[in-house]
Amino acid sequence: MEENFVLSPTRNVDAFSQQNLHSLITEATPLAQSLTSKRRPHIAIGRGSNGLTYVGFDVELPDLPLNFSIHAVQFLVVSLKLNFDLALRDLAISNDGSHYYYAPCGHCCQFLQEINKDRSHDLIGLTAMTAARNSYAPYSNAPSGVVLYDRQGHKFSGSYIESVADIPSLGPVQAALVNFVIDTGGREFKNIVEAELVETRSRFRQEDTARMIMQKIAPGCKFNVYHCSHYRAESS
Ligand SMILES: [Zn+2]
Repeated sequence: MEENFVLSPTRNVDAFSQQNLHSLITEATPLAQSLTSKRRPHIAIGRGSNGLTYVGFDVELPDLPLNFSIHAVQFLVVSLKLNFDLALRDLAISNDGSHYYYAPCGHCCQFLQEINKDRSHDLIGLTAMTAARNSYAPYSNAPSGVVLYDRQGHKFSGSYIESVADIPSLGPVQAALVNFVIDTGGREFKNIVEAELVETRSRFRQEDTARMIMQKIAPGCKFNVYHCSHYRAESS
């Protein structure tokens, strides 16, 4: 697997042939198994509008219920956004390392539909404020962003990505954790020592959930919350 779970175009010739997909999945399976307790984790492979191929994985958050898990398709979408890619052209999902491919779960179908509406939020910035500005929150109009810092001072930012059906929404902590997994290649969340959340004061606050997730996966992590005054989410 190449850096950042993105495959270069040279490597990517006919990535969506049956044979190529199978070898990509075989290569990605050990990493996928390290990110979840599932014996047969989902692996999502997608091709973006810039022709690059992205790989996404299920990520279980240790000591938290499964509904906090990041789905492989959500991982893929965050990776696409990190690479300023605007659209997903092809998608293949494997859940058993075989030649058989599956449709995204209902949760992710909804998520993908939302993302395809989103054309303006393709930048993920370096600060929690920028991350909040890059949220996709057209329903609650309550953008939020998170930056996580590890012991070495590396930053991992994430923006809230909302779905009208609510449950498939991806919280800013989970989005930042995708960034963490992409950069570090694993789930050593205990190395996270500080988290910053920026959000507006609204009834759709992320604070409690974000704080609870961080306490579970990185006990002792310092947690700072900043409330910005209400602003209109920039949208196209
Ligand atoms: Zn899913």
